[in-house]
Amino acid sequence: MGGHGGSTDSSTASGTDFDVIVLGGGINGAGIARDCARRGLKVCVVEKNDLAKGASGANTGMIHGGIRYLMYDVHTTKMSCTDSGYIQRIAPHLLFRVPFIVPVMKPQGAGLLQTMMDRLLLEGSEVFFEAYDVYQPLKRGKPHTRLTRDEALALEPGLNPNILGAVTMDEWGIDPFRLVVENAIDAVEHGAVILTWHEVTGFVKGSDGRVEGVDVQDRLTAGATTRRLRAPVVVNATGAWGPRTAAMAGASYQLRPGKGVHIVYSHRISNYGFAITGVDGRQMFLMPHENGSIIGTTDDDYYGDLDHPRATEDEVKYILQAARDVFPGIDQYRMSRTYVGVRPTLFTWAKNEDRLSREHEFYDHEAQGVPGLISVAGGKLAAYRQLAEEVSTEVARRLGNTVACSTHAAPLPGAEGPIDVDGWMKDLPKRHRLAVSRMAYRHGSRSQALLKAVDDDPRQACETCLCEPVCEAEIRGTIQTEVVRRLVDIRRRTRQSMGACGGTRCAVRTSQILLEEANLTAVEQLVELQGAMDARFIGKRPVLEGANLATEELNQAMHFLGGNLGPLFRAARLLADDAGGRAAIGIGAPADAPATRDVDGIVHHRTQATAIVVAPIPGDRP
Ligand SMILES: Cc1cc2nc3c(=O)[nH]c(=O)nc-3n(C[C@H](O)[C@H](O)[C@H](O)COP(=O)(O)OP(=O)(O)OC[C@H]3O[C@@H](n4cnc5c(N)ncnc54)[C@H](O)[C@@H]3O)c2cc1C
Repeated sequence: MGGHGGSTDSSTASGTDFDVIVLGGGINGAGIARDCARRGLKVCVVEKNDLAKGASGANTGMIHGGIRYLMYDVHTTKMSCTDSGYIQRIAPHLLFRVPFIVPVMKPQGAGLLQTMMDRLLLEGSEVFFEAYDVYQPLKRGKPHTRLTRDEALALEPGLNPNILGAVTMDEWGIDPFRLVVENAIDAVEHGAVILTWHEVTGFVKGSDGRVEGVDVQDRLTAGATTRRLRAPVVVNATGAWGPRTAAMAGASYQLRPGKGVHIVYSHRISNYGFAITGVDGRQMFLMPHENGSIIGTTDDDYYGDLDHPRATEDEVKYILQAARDVFPGIDQYRMSRTYVGVRPTLFTWAKNEDRLSREHEFYDHEAQGVPGLISVAGGKLAAYRQLAEEVSTEVARRLGNTVACSTHAAPLPGAEGPIDVDGWMKDLPKRHRLAVSRMAYRHGSRSQALLKAVDDDPRQACETCLCEPVCEAEIRGTIQTEVVRRLVDIRRRTRQSMGACGGTRCAVRTSQILLEEANLTAVEQLVELQGAMDARFIGKRPVLEGANLATEELNQAMHFLGGNLGPLFRAARLLADDAGGRAAIGIGAPADAPATRDVDGIVHHRTQATAIVVAPIPGDRP
């Protein structure tokens, strides 16, 4: 499966020179690519997984100022609020307002002294929020309001009644996957080449030590030799992996990677967000996100495997404990999964994780004898555009390019025209309204082009899943135009299988659509399906209890028994075991056979599906 979608095709990058190669397809890499491409520079992005597979797709999704930082990092609050204002201007379709209720809990105690303390607590909270109000206009936020206990409980009866009162706070949420993808698409539309599932394996250097390019490997194509891409400037935007990437070039810098976990609910717990406090005093949020709710995040120094961070049951307990204090009924809601990301936080010694600066920096490695390489560190989703502007201005300066930055004003794809869901719905049955309005949220004015496919083939109006209503036209359009190479990429572009069923009802159908659009073999389709189910399971595992466990049993029964995938994959594993290799389909095929990949995306040679199906499976039903 090559890259689908014209200029994203990896083959166009082969042997081509670029002005700048950007390593990493997170928000910072995509933002820098967009900025540089809009200045007329020839850009190539190399991402070893999918776009937004790192921290950029695993965050709280808030385009906020970070009221927490007001206490120790005012500059970050101001910068984030300013950039949030720009993001609203360039991608209004992607933002949704999140009204927060920040409850002021009643401390234990009694008597006159306690009453005075209560008053002080309330007044103190209000002073704090007044300070934040100063920055709210930068992001079109509303000033805070003080609520009495009864007013707060009337707004949200699920709140702990043991509160003194509350203060409101106005913030913005976003679909972080779409923000990354739309930056990347805009870059492509300005000439950039985006290579997803391509890993940087080394640097090309001149005799003077200058970085002149990178070696990359396509992780999805068997036998693909290392390809060399050349450019006078290479930007390392590989997030928490950054120091490891720089080390390949003989350069160094330090980060303090921070692991953050969220719990996801596929339904809304409340239409308000709540600030909650962990047992250690850490502030977190229980908030609406897309069609559901999320709670998080933790923030712990992380020394583990960057490619496979996992949420634990302990972390889930810690988060629930905090939520229960403010929202006592939380345990009655069914958790659907967790997700985890690793922040590329700036390094500081002897500071609690919570107090680390969220500012960004970029390092020129020339002083270390590695000219031509710039590394990006730190930052926030909410201030990515500012970071990208600073880095791109430096890149442009080095290349003698004087074109000004335009990313604060130029609309992102989907924000160029009006959104007219009613108009687009005219020839469609009413029941499709939700899917079309969700499509409009994700694709803005470009939904109209996606819906054109329905005129030719009305079946494309059908929803592939009811949980996160995504219609077939959106999936097909996404595969065709949004740098999709794998089934899991579709989930990040459309939220397909992110709903209550977790893929039970929709993954098979979506894999069939991918098969048609990307011309996959049956085996490739099954490998994609298995990979997507495995990826889901990792997030589900820490919350598998009660009704969740039953749902997962149903899911596995459908896919591995009813769908007959179990015998197929066990046969594949058997073949792999016999060959003394890793579990994968068709290991042992001739070296020139076409390839497929295992659940980690690692390439293996393949045989035809029939060869696997007929393999003996001891103990299996006929
Ligand atoms: C739990 C959590 C919650 C957060 N909440 C918020 C929030 O609400 N608001 C906010 O503003 N910010 C938030 N942040 C911060 C924000 O998400 C990050 O600052 C931002 O996403 C970092 O983006 P990045 O592009 O630098 O890194 P990443 O998104 O991690 O991207 C780096 C990319 O590099 C790729 N890569 C690595 N090695 C290689 C290689 N050898 N070859 C090719 N590619 C490679 C990786 O696959 C990855 O996709 C949060 C972060 C976390 C973890």
